[in-house]
Amino acid sequence: PAVSANDDLKALIRTIPDFPKPGIMFRDITTLLLDAEGFAACIERMAAAVNGPIDLVAGIEARGFLFAAALAAPLNAGVLLIRKDGKLPGATIAEDYALEYGTDRIAMHADACAPGARVLLVDDLIATGGTARAAVRLLRKAGAIVSQVQFVVDLPELGGADALREDGLEVTSLVA
Ligand code: AMP
Repeated sequence: PAVSANDDLKALIRTIPDFPKPGIMFRDITTLLLDAEGFAACIERMAAAVNGPIDLVAGIEARGFLFAAALAAPLNAGVLLIRKDGKLPGATIAEDYALEYGTDRIAMHADACAPGARVLLVDDLIATGGTARAAVRLLRKAGAIVSQVQFVVDLPELGGADALREDGLEVTSLVA
């Protein structure tokens, strides 16, 4: 079989077993970030996969910020920060999502996007999809039009990308 175009990027992502707790295989993209050519190729390929014009790239704290920020210039878009609740200084809107035990809350500035703004959502990795789905709900609550979500890494066996697709979103990722 042909080598996938993104196998070069996959080789730059390190796996740390049992982080942050036993049983989790942590896919560590810091090694991809350290590689000048690899990181540049990653951003180029993400930009090439963007479908249609967008106004803002929304990044999810913290690793999502890096990819969102790097994508902004080539897409001629601004960057919108989606953060853990309590970190943003201005008036915020928030959205809760379920974790294995308990819930978490993400927030964005209430005035960060004009109603009808076309927003591309970006994060480093999708697992269960809980974080990304909450981010989509949050952006839509703010009036954004969200039609595409991008990740560097998809863990398909966890079903997050499929759940987003069932919500009608276009989901693209570089490596699985
Ligand atoms: P989820 O909400 O389950 O899709 O989890 C996605 C979020 O958790 C992303 O912001 C990821 O950075 C992080 N994450 C979840 N699982 C992993 C993993 N195995 N390796 C690295 N990051 C992960």
